[in-house]
Amino acid sequence: MTSSQEIELLLTPEVAYDELARYRALLDAAGLVPGQADFVHLRKRSVDARGRQPLVRLRADIYRSAPPADLFGPWFSYPSVQQATRSVLIVGAGPAGLFAALRAIELGIKPIVLERGKDVRTRRRDLAALNKEHLVNPDSNYCFGEGGAGTYSDGKLYTRSTKRGDIQRILRILVQHGATPDILVDAHPHIGTNKLPYVVATLRDSVLAAGGEVRFDTRVDDLLLTGQHLRGVVTNTGEELTADAVILATGHSARDIYELLHRRGVLIEAKPFALGVRVEHPQQLIDQAQYRRQDRGQLPAASYSLVHQTQWQQRQRGVFSFCMCPGGFIVPAATAPGEVVVNGMSPSRRDSRFANSGIVAAVELEDMDVRQYGALAGLRFQQEIEQRACQLAGNTQVAPAQLLGDFLKKKVSAELLETSYQPGLVSVPMDQVLGAGLAERLRQGFQNFGRKIPGYASNMAQIVGVESRTSSPVRIPRDRDTLQHPEVRGLFPCGEGAGYAGGIVSAAMDGERCAEAVLAQVAAGL
Ligand code: FAD
Repeated sequence: MTSSQEIELLLTPEVAYDELARYRALLDAAGLVPGQADFVHLRKRSVDARGRQPLVRLRADIYRSAPPADLFGPWFSYPSVQQATRSVLIVGAGPAGLFAALRAIELGIKPIVLERGKDVRTRRRDLAALNKEHLVNPDSNYCFGEGGAGTYSDGKLYTRSTKRGDIQRILRILVQHGATPDILVDAHPHIGTNKLPYVVATLRDSVLAAGGEVRFDTRVDDLLLTGQHLRGVVTNTGEELTADAVILATGHSARDIYELLHRRGVLIEAKPFALGVRVEHPQQLIDQAQYRRQDRGQLPAASYSLVHQTQWQQRQRGVFSFCMCPGGFIVPAATAPGEVVVNGMSPSRRDSRFANSGIVAAVELEDMDVRQYGALAGLRFQQEIEQRACQLAGNTQVAPAQLLGDFLKKKVSAELLETSYQPGLVSVPMDQVLGAGLAERLRQGFQNFGRKIPGYASNMAQIVGVESRTSSPVRIPRDRDTLQHPEVRGLFPCGEGAGYAGGIVSAAMDGERCAEAVLAQVAAGL
């Protein structure tokens, strides 16, 4: 049996991020000298910036004999499902779809993954065309394609979910497929857009190696419904595919899927979401505010998380930061021509000169025209603002922008700052893009954030529109226990697009849960 000693320490960044100095400090704290420990396993690492100087909190296990074998993986194996008698169609190869596929394999079900976009490598060309030529391919963009919306992202892996066990499982699957083991250690783990494509391709390889199928350029355009039983789907080539069940994991941007469900009489509901802008600051400004040092040295690029309750026309709404990307880039996340949508991503080293974050206001059902548009009211609200952003900025992927200080003073910006947003920016008063209510709420939010971070709400920053794809504006309901649609047997709404996840990790966890539910329901005869 292996025994270990747990050590918790606060160290300066210079020691904490230097492997040898850290090793010595940990042994010293354990009262050991080099040679007396067999292995030091770092278990947790977080930056504590509350004091006068930022410190790094470490938790480690020190082994005086060989550490347990399961510390290093591999933790999972994927048995062959080539001869499996059960199969599931999984629509969408985002985190929800891919993790549903792997879990299905573990459970002995053959997954057939249908993805409208391209494999992760080929997808890159469409992103280049989007950034340089302003061409939006409606099937291959920052939201659609292998790995889903999570591939060309920051790859932040934290979630508000409290299911620690499941989170660790997802992180271990990612490590087994090529992600850095640091994600098992860091309090705020992230992978980075330069490393994610490899991880995604390796996840797909595991599905294929076990005998599952992954079909790219395969868009689901219709449903094979027999009464209230979903037997399969029809693809863009007219092919009809059937299976024991369908996991629908198409993400929050698959508007054609919501329209299809609506048209075919499958119950969907309008859902609150959030909408706003992306704000871009020099990373150095955020570093100085958070770390109180001129130079962050070896510390990671600093981030922030902000929230404020606003009031406008007797309605209270939260304004909050969303998907903050330290050392990152703003990217064009539109999924159709004629709309401008922005989002953020960063490389693993988070070393760009810019910090960007969504700053969004909650949009509740009473803010939308539910009477006219019913279940699609949120979607129409979102679409209208995205199209207005595009028109006001000149009908390309150039995005409307305003200096933050000018926005607060309702002044047109005479010029803009340098930006990480490759298609370019044009000065537009953001009130015209957002409308009075949203603009006023964001102003109240920014004013409050300016009191929390010195220099934040100034002309050293600019806001870029619009950050509208924060979460799904539609819910596809499902039964709490069976995870099946309440009216359509065989349909398992899954992930962010159905309204049951927000972010890579929670979508992956939901994918796993849906695969488990498919097994339970198919075994019970649906
Ligand atoms: P998605 O990832 O949206 O995947 C859905 C898939 O379904 C897509 O691949 C799409 O092509 C496919 N599809 C859609 N319609 C059809 C159809 N009709 N037929 C076949 N296939 C279809 N989250 C984080 O946790 N951390 C981050 O750092 C982060 N950064 C982000 C940065 C950007 C630029 C973007 C756009 C998102 C970011 N997110 C981040 C959000 C995260 O990517 C999503 O929450 C997550 O990907 C949702 O997973 P999903 O599998 O439910 O849906």
